[in-house]
Amino acid sequence: MSELVIKNLHVSIDGKEILKGLDLTIKQGEIHAIMGPNGTGKSTLAYTLMGHPSYEVTEGEVSFDGKNVLDLEPDERSRLGIFLAFQYPVAIPGVTVANFLRSAINSRRRAANPEDKGIPIPEFRKMLKEKMGVLKMDQSFAGRYLNEGFSGGEKKRAEILQMATLTPKIAILDETDSGLDIDALRIVSEGVNALSGPELGVLVITHYQRLLNYIKPHFVHIMMNGRIVESGGPELALHLEEHGYDWVREKYDESPEEQKVA
Ligand code: ADP
Ligand code: MG
Repeated sequence: MSELVIKNLHVSIDGKEILKGLDLTIKQGEIHAIMGPNGTGKSTLAYTLMGHPSYEVTEGEVSFDGKNVLDLEPDERSRLGIFLAFQYPVAIPGVTVANFLRSAINSRRRAANPEDKGIPIPEFRKMLKEKMGVLKMDQSFAGRYLNEGFSGGEKKRAEILQMATLTPKIAILDETDSGLDIDALRIVSEGVNALSGPELGVLVITHYQRLLNYIKPHFVHIMMNGRIVESGGPELALHLEEHGYDWVREKYDESPEEQKVA
């Protein structure tokens, strides 16, 4: 059983501290949701976990399977089993969804064994067909150029399919705080629900309580000012739905008045 353990994580961007001592443990098989107002550092956490170079870890530890994640490059983190779904996936004209996924699988296989000849095409096709079936995706999707002319919902689908193909142990899904329509939300949720099980740990990051109408998390955490300030079960999300974030701000926001988000 793998677990991602985050201890006292402090992260700065351009010298400004954004995460201020964040603690969180996610085990395979668990679904966690982090919720919080805009600007509290939710995306900073996601990018830091994946190794984005702009985010400087100044203090604390992140380990996965007992390995120090912070010492690893993003591709090494990925091979270890950590996956981050992109908020704004890039279009790659000329490369089909299927070819992209096959390259991703093959580069991973070659990293594990330089002699590897790559996944045989029939095996790949069978696997892809199965995964697309689980996600109720039309098979023609695999032949389209990656993200080229995709709707927001289709981009999300492509991300979820990538997740299904790479079979991570921990998937981090950071939902943008703007412009994620209800359709995209539903697609992400259905994908997570279809893929979740004892092998997969999920961290869903969202501003919206409504995401949790679709995904049933085991644990809900509220983030404020770069820390997790409340943790509980699904009832915490319901409480937020009813009462909003004002009570959290009143209780935990220590930033100067002029910086407070209205
Ligand atoms: P959230 O996802 O919770 O809305 P973010 O992690 O995106 O919050 O941002 C947290 C804080 O860090 C905000 O004050 C934001 O302005 C700042 N920030 C985020 N990314 C950058 C960046 N690349 N450069 C400078 N400041 C940033
Ligand atoms: Mg964000």
